[in-house]
Amino acid sequence: MRTPVIAGNWKMFKTVEESREYFRTFQPLGQKEGVETVLCVPYPSLPELVEAARETDIGIGAQNMHWEEEGAFTGEVSPTMLKGLHVSHVIVGHSERRTHFAETDESVRLKTRSALDHGLTPIVCVGETLEEREKERTRDVVRNQVVQALKGLSSEEATQTILAYEPVWAIGTGKASTAEDAGEVIGFIRQTVEEQFDSRAAERVRILYGGSVKPANVDSFLDIPDIDGGLVGGASLDPETFGQLVSAAS
Ligand code: PGA
Repeated sequence: MRTPVIAGNWKMFKTVEESREYFRTFQPLGQKEGVETVLCVPYPSLPELVEAARETDIGIGAQNMHWEEEGAFTGEVSPTMLKGLHVSHVIVGHSERRTHFAETDESVRLKTRSALDHGLTPIVCVGETLEEREKERTRDVVRNQVVQALKGLSSEEATQTILAYEPVWAIGTGKASTAEDAGEVIGFIRQTVEEQFDSRAAERVRILYGGSVKPANVDSFLDIPDIDGGLVGGASLDPETFGQLVSAAS
């Protein structure tokens, strides 16, 4: 019932030229029946890739944005600017932004709200640190991040977001969560959405797993009914590898 999503997060990798090269290889591999494929790329590559992906089913997303439409915010990019480029998705609240760029639950909420207001699909990231996991605080942390991010949305708007559960200790470490653990937390996130909104929103919202997803483990995550796909960093940088992940979801 829920269309799976395979979203790549290139982070701060690839020049425009490298992006163009990548997409040439990726285009045929990235379009698979029944899968929503998204590439979230650095700002400079957005125009090029939106243009290259225009006749395809591949969505092109940003990795961050400001919530205001314009203003004196040096270095920031607004939802109106992204929309003007025909960008379809935007990652919000990635743990690297929370850690290195002081992203807070409040800014994540404002960005989520603003993305929806501008017709962009927010991919909202949540997840606990290793320390929080060891203190058995995973559920509290994740529940709080979800509730704060979605606060004030209607049930319909909540279903239009994509949530991504990314345990911080699993990101870029090669040490993925087990599928069972990820499935359990994602089931809990779904329950949180039900409590915050209703059962319809919980049944319809897509929730991805992220953190060291690769061809060798992707099936284990996709086999879990509550997991609707992956948010993929390192393994999205190579078009053939990322294409394998898209194929696995189809
Ligand atoms: P990773 O990153 O796949 O390299 O662990 C995931 C992410 O940060 O979204």
